[in-house]
Amino acid sequence: MVFVLLEAALFGITIFVDLVTGLEVTVVPFYVIATAVVTWRHSFAVGILGAMISAAGWTYSEIVDGLYYTSSFAMMVNLGSRFGAFLLVAYGVTVYRQSLAAHRERLRLLEYFVCCCPSCGRLSAARDGWFSPAELFAGGRHPVRYCPECSGQGRK
Ligand SMILES: [Zn+2]
Repeated sequence: MVFVLLEAALFGITIFVDLVTGLEVTVVPFYVIATAVVTWRHSFAVGILGAMISAAGWTYSEIVDGLYYTSSFAMMVNLGSRFGAFLLVAYGVTVYRQSLAAHRERLRLLEYFVCCCPSCGRLSAARDGWFSPAELFAGGRHPVRYCPECSGQGRK
């Protein structure tokens, strides 16, 4: 709950800074960071919401700071373009996050096949016998084994 409030504050602070700095200074990186953070921490759906808040906050602050649109169409085009750009940020973060999760899952599966010393990270080709696929995926099948050096057997 605290983190959700901090994320909301991130958007609020960004919009506030955007209002204070006026039209000449852009704070787009802060909107990008806020959108990326909520997408990373939650989901693409929340990232869409973050993209909406960022686009609306940017457009709102420039109007409050004195930018006058001669037509509402131009304002809507800018608003839509900004939303699209922030949506790309949310999408990119989501793809990266899913890719990272897939790699972690592959690594977790590889740990069943490769014996790795948890202390120094060295690999061992030796396995502790034959076992069925059911045994392989049973919880806790893979024993934690230290290499001889880390377990003290390799030291002289
Ligand atoms: Zn080791």
